[in-house]
Amino acid sequence: MSRAYNFNAGPAALPDEVLEKAQKEMLDFNHTGMSVMELSHRSTDYEQVHNQAQERLRTLLDIPEDYEVLLLQGGASLQFSMLPMNVLQSGETANYILTGSWSEKALKEAQMIGQTRVGASAKDQNFTHIPDVDALQLDSRDKYVHITTNNTIFGTQWQELDYNWLSPVVADMSSDILSRPVPVSSFGAIYAGAQKNLGPSGVTVVIVKKEWVSQAPGHTPTMLRYDTHAEKNSLFHTPPTFAVYLLNEVLGWVEERGGVLGMQQRNKEKAAMLYDTIDGSGGFYRGHAETDSRSSMNVTFNLPTEELNKQFLAEAKQAGFVGLNGHRSVGGCRASIYNAVSKESCQALQDFMLTFQKNHQ
Ligand SMILES: *Cc1c(COP(=O)(O)O)cnc(C)c1O
Repeated sequence: MSRAYNFNAGPAALPDEVLEKAQKEMLDFNHTGMSVMELSHRSTDYEQVHNQAQERLRTLLDIPEDYEVLLLQGGASLQFSMLPMNVLQSGETANYILTGSWSEKALKEAQMIGQTRVGASAKDQNFTHIPDVDALQLDSRDKYVHITTNNTIFGTQWQELDYNWLSPVVADMSSDILSRPVPVSSFGAIYAGAQKNLGPSGVTVVIVKKEWVSQAPGHTPTMLRYDTHAEKNSLFHTPPTFAVYLLNEVLGWVEERGGVLGMQQRNKEKAAMLYDTIDGSGGFYRGHAETDSRSSMNVTFNLPTEELNKQFLAEAKQAGFVGLNGHRSVGGCRASIYNAVSKESCQALQDFMLTFQKNHQ
C-alpha cells in the first residue's frame, strides 16, 4: 500500500494513525460487536465519544465555561446564515471584513438576514493581503465583526488573533482551527467545517458565547436555533456519528502531539520549507500572498508562465502529488498543508520543486 502525498484543500489528509485505528475498530467498536456508525446515538457508547470530542475541544482550545461547543451539520456554509439568524437582532448591524471568497459568501448570506457593512476589503488587490488592523473601520455599535482567519483559496491568514476591538469578533476558522492557539474569549463565536483541520466532512464545530445562544427571534425554525442544539448537548436529532467519532480521534491525535502549540511548531516548519523554496527561487516560483499575510495552511504560488504552471502540475501528478491545482477561481498552484499533512510530504514537495526548477529554468 502506498499513501499519496495529499495536498488537497478540503476534504483533506487525515492522520494515518487515526485511519488505522478506525479500521481496527470498524467491525467491533469498544466490544459492542458493531461499528460506531451502527450504534444508537442514544447509547452510552456513542455518547462517550460525543462528549469526549466536546471535552477535548474545550481543553485543546482552552474554551472558557461561558461558551457552548456545538457539533452541527450543514458545514461552515450554513453558519454564514445561521449565525446572523441567531445573533443579529433587528436594527443591529454586523461588520464584515472581506479577505477572500469565503468572507464574501459569509457577507452575502448575512445580507439576507439583517443589516451589514464592510469595514475593510482586500478585493481591489486581488486578496493578496490581510488589511492593516489600524485601518479597519470599526464602530462600537457593530453587533460583531466577522473575519475569515485563514483564506483557503488565496493563501492569506490573519497573523494575530488577540484583538481588543470595539465589538466581539466572529470568525470562520474552517481552514486553520487547531493549527495554533486562539484566545477564545476575544471572540463572540468561532465556527469551522471539520474537513480541513478537524476530521472528515459532515460535522461543523460552533463555539459560541452562552449569552448569544438564546437570542434567535421566535420565528426562527427549530433546527436553525443555537438553543435547540445547546439544550440537548448537540443530540437534538441524529448527529453525524461517524464524523464525530473521527473528529474525536483526530483531537486525540493532536493531544498526543503537544496540542495546538505542537501543531503550531510543526506547521511553521512545514510552511517554511515551501516558502523558503519560493523565496529562494529567484522569482521562478511567485507567491500569491504578500509576505506578511502568508498562510501556514495554504501555500499559493505561480510559475513564470501558464505553460509552466500546467507542466508543473502535470509532472507533480506523475510523481504522486495530489491536490496541487489552485482553486478554479484563481488558477496557479496551491499546497494545502493542514495539521495532518506530514513533514515528509512537505519535504517531498520541496525536493520536487527544486528539481523542477533546475530542469525547466
Ligand atoms: C472550506 C471552507 C468553507 C466551506 O465549508 P463547508 O463546510 O463546505 O461549508 C468556508 N470557509 C472557509 C474558510 C473554508 O475554508
